[in-house]
Amino acid sequence: MEPKQQRFATWYFLLIVSTLLLVRSMLFAPHQETLSYSEFKSLLRRGKIVEALIDQQSVKGTFAIDGIDSILPKDRVAEVRQAGKGPHPFITIRVEDPSLVAELDSAKVRFAGRAQNPWSSALLGWLLPGIFFFWLWGVVMQRMGHGAHGGLMAIGKSKAKVYMERSTGVTFDDVAGIDEARAELAEIVDFLKTPERYQRLGGHLPKGVLIVGAPGTGKTLLAKAVAGEAKVPFFSLTGSDFVEMFVGVGAARVRDLFEQAYAHAPSIIFIDELDALGRARAAGSVVGGHEEREQTLNQLLAEMDGFDTRKGLIIMAATNRPEILDPALLRPGRFDRKVVVDRPDLKGREQILKVHARGVKLGPDVDLVGVAARTPGLVGADLANLVNEAALRAARAGAEAVSMSDFVEAIDRVIAGLERKSRVMNPKEKRIVAFHEAGHALVAESRPHADRVAKISIIPRGVAALGYTQQQPTEDRYLLTQAELLDRLDVLLGGRVAEELVFGDISTGAQDDLQRATSLARDMITRYGMSATLGLTVYDPPRQALFLDVPAASAREYSEETARGIDGEIRALLAAAHDRVRGTLSERRTALDAVASVLLEREVVEREQLTRLLGESTPAAA
Ligand code: ADP
Ligand code: ZN
Repeated sequence: MEPKQQRFATWYFLLIVSTLLLVRSMLFAPHQETLSYSEFKSLLRRGKIVEALIDQQSVKGTFAIDGIDSILPKDRVAEVRQAGKGPHPFITIRVEDPSLVAELDSAKVRFAGRAQNPWSSALLGWLLPGIFFFWLWGVVMQRMGHGAHGGLMAIGKSKAKVYMERSTGVTFDDVAGIDEARAELAEIVDFLKTPERYQRLGGHLPKGVLIVGAPGTGKTLLAKAVAGEAKVPFFSLTGSDFVEMFVGVGAARVRDLFEQAYAHAPSIIFIDELDALGRARAAGSVVGGHEEREQTLNQLLAEMDGFDTRKGLIIMAATNRPEILDPALLRPGRFDRKVVVDRPDLKGREQILKVHARGVKLGPDVDLVGVAARTPGLVGADLANLVNEAALRAARAGAEAVSMSDFVEAIDRVIAGLERKSRVMNPKEKRIVAFHEAGHALVAESRPHADRVAKISIIPRGVAALGYTQQQPTEDRYLLTQAELLDRLDVLLGGRVAEELVFGDISTGAQDDLQRATSLARDMITRYGMSATLGLTVYDPPRQALFLDVPAASAREYSEETARGIDGEIRALLAAAHDRVRGTLSERRTALDAVASVLLEREVVEREQLTRLLGESTPAAA
């Protein structure tokens, strides 16, 4: 705490105490005359005391108001008289006085003792208002950013804030549908729980874990769950907060963050939107352009290099654009572990819906599997939003429980919101994409030289790719034969040809495939000398040259006629591939339909299931 703030806090405290006193005296003291003990005794001796109630600390009672002029000062007598004619209430603080009872007796005063219940009066007089004010104080202090119990810790007064949560309260149970990422992080949890064990074995643990995934897929949630499972404090900051700051502030903040996290180790530091901070330095960037970001990034790199994992500190960061990160961040000893969080598939969406429906009263007709089936492309955050929307709808209608129709309405609403951002496909598009991807996969599996299919998915990723077929090379390749390149060409065309065959119509979805097929065909002819008519002549420079700043056009060193020849060859190569693929797919149409329909139903088909499907539909296939 800075001195200035401390002084402020003291003043604040004094203010509270005096207010407290004021409130107490107003609430709990009737209009009674406060007498000194000697005044009380004088009144008693003159027979003016009418009655007295004696307790541990005080004597209360009433006194007659006539003939008191010689006992009390004039102004007080006037005041007392003003209050009324009858006996006037008084209070006096008791002193040690053994003769009090005898004197009261002889003056014939009605008197009684009173057993003090210390609790009730303390509770009413002090404790309740006290608690109230301390509560108020706590709230104000927390607002000001001095969370005494780990709320929000503003270091300084600038925009970028470091949040510390002593315990996030999130566990792996709260994270659904992204089991692979969860499993990969289980090791980190184990390490944070018992860093000594790893220390003893001298093993190397990752310092930095980069969580990659689309917005809303649960990256932050996952990092918090790691902290929650390991029961360690969670420090977090957001990359984009650093962008507009003064030079040097960000770096200082990073240093501070590491110091604090170290002091609380084992602990987790989480940096959200790492890309905002760690964007690759553009080649030949304008001088002084993003000095602050760079300084902050350098500080982060220095801190990461400087600390020792054995203390139990792990840095996690999230990004949805890993490709733009500065490569320095990804070097060994920094963010060298990458965990990918995919958009959830059907099963995953169902599980996420279940997590968020835990606190919601569902009607008997609600079918979460059905809800999941209607929401391809939605991520965890969307689904959380969806459940909430449905619950609000039911509440507005005054219903007892959330019904399926609430969900249906909520789906429409959430999807309509997202469709503007083009993240969701309609059923017809989904069918086209399913057949398209099934086409790629089937051709890949029918070609001896193509890479095996690892996974097919029709869960949209980003704006461009509506689905994908992931192939896995069986080994690293440095040389590719002509046969292999031709098979590759076929696989690229598989999607488009499947659309042709099934729908008799074609879509724009194959644009990227065709682009790649064309450039592959061009390479075969102009770079690899694989054309029968054009021979061994190399017409285009090797690919690497394109990375230099040589404009592609200037590289052309052949005649118009040759250019026309090349174009013709490319067309012929692609046409031949098209015919081959059409043949394959027509022949194996049953398999194509089978794969596409399973894809439509489950959205993801893994290799195992694919081989089973292919085996069933064409038993004779090699
Ligand atoms: P990201 O950091 O990837 O943008 P968040 O972790 O901030 O996404 O997710 C936002 C919210 O969406 C979470 O707080 C949670 O309520 C919900 N959510 C996202 N993914 C999941 C998931 N896999 N399981 C359960 N809830 C999720
Ligand atoms: Zn394709």
